[in-house]
Amino acid sequence: MSDRTLRAPRGTRDLLPTETPIWTRLEHLAGNLATRYGYRRIETPLIESTAVFERGVGAVTDIVEKELFRLAPRTEESEALALRPEPTAGIVRAYIQHGMQTWPQPVKLNQVGPMFRYDRPQAGRYRQFWQFDIEAIGDPGPAIDAEIIELGVRFYREAGLADVQVLVNSIGDPACRPTYLALLIDYYRGHRDALPTTESDRLERNVLRLLDSKDPAMAAINRDAPRVTDHLCEACAEHFASVLAHLDALAVPYRLDPSLVRGLDYYTRTAFEFYLPGRDGQQQALGGGGRYDGLVELLGGRPTPGIGFGVGLDRVVLALQERGAVEPEATIVAVVVGADPMATAVRLGVATNLRAAGLAARADLTHRRLGKQLEAAAREHAHFAVIVGDELTAGEVQVRDLPAGTQKVVPVAELANELTRAHGAHRHGGREG
Ligand code: AMP
Repeated sequence: MSDRTLRAPRGTRDLLPTETPIWTRLEHLAGNLATRYGYRRIETPLIESTAVFERGVGAVTDIVEKELFRLAPRTEESEALALRPEPTAGIVRAYIQHGMQTWPQPVKLNQVGPMFRYDRPQAGRYRQFWQFDIEAIGDPGPAIDAEIIELGVRFYREAGLADVQVLVNSIGDPACRPTYLALLIDYYRGHRDALPTTESDRLERNVLRLLDSKDPAMAAINRDAPRVTDHLCEACAEHFASVLAHLDALAVPYRLDPSLVRGLDYYTRTAFEFYLPGRDGQQQALGGGGRYDGLVELLGGRPTPGIGFGVGLDRVVLALQERGAVEPEATIVAVVVGADPMATAVRLGVATNLRAAGLAARADLTHRRLGKQLEAAAREHAHFAVIVGDELTAGEVQVRDLPAGTQKVVPVAELANELTRAHGAHRHGGREG
């Protein structure tokens, strides 16, 4: 390929029509589940003031420090903007900006859309990826924490990944976390000589990150590290116990994971992630979320609790593809062909009426012979060829059932009804998909 060939930017990709049916199904499922659980759609811009992420995600996080797609300012006075790396900060910004504190609480919102992180691309890690996001703002839990986790599990189950597992933890709140963090820093300082350089650098800045380090050298050190759940204040411990009791009541299976801390500053209390069995490495999370009781205040609103999750749709698609799940592409039901190659207006008119009646139809707009038109219709697996010929003067067309090889005359006035009926019967006969 020559140097001048233009390609999609590194870490991004085109989703081609052969792949998009599975995406369409997942997006419909996400929207449908959100509706069933009473989460309403919100759309926030793909760009936000950089401050939304610096304050809302935290300045000392990989997402902001290394991975933020910052836009070059166009003029000196223009504000600093960045592409969104995650949805929660923008949604909470909108919650405050539009006075949603005065709406009935909690405000339950959902969104499906692309996120951007300037990360090193690899399998399942892209610079543009898609998330299905759920947020409930204004409810301190613990019942809603379980509702949200159960909603996540149901999404995977209905998507075709019934074995997805939930890991849960509580990471405390501003009352108990500082004491725990101090303990943790002390503990790691005691092992300073054994810490890899990255971990050593992070120790003073964001010590929680060491806990979920995937560096093999950390495994032994982390095994004996103080566990956050042993140092929760009474309110946090009660909250966590109640979240688990609600999960039990809903028969949602989960595993406790005291090393699950998530990378973002704004999380408090409940934290959870979704994994496929045997794949609980950090790169492999299919989704995750948690409670962020401090975030609304951090972004300038009144203190308001919140909880949410993001499902990485790219990884769900990958997992489904690995399991051989293929989504059939929707095919054209009827192709309108004709003996007079030049009569494109007539063919287009017939197809237009079929489309108006709700059928997927195409007219052959080439000037090729009827035989060629029929061959093309068969190649794209259309169910019917509608053949426009001399009978049209009598208000009739020929309808050929391509897979069955049968043909009959149908009045144009009956065409849409007849095709709808015959196509429905064919599908229910199980011969298609
Ligand atoms: P996070 O906010 O990092 O927990 O991301 C939530 C979910 O989005 C993860 O569990 C992944 O499934 C997905 N995700 C995060 N970053 C990427 C990425 N760079 N490429 C693809 N999926 C991602």
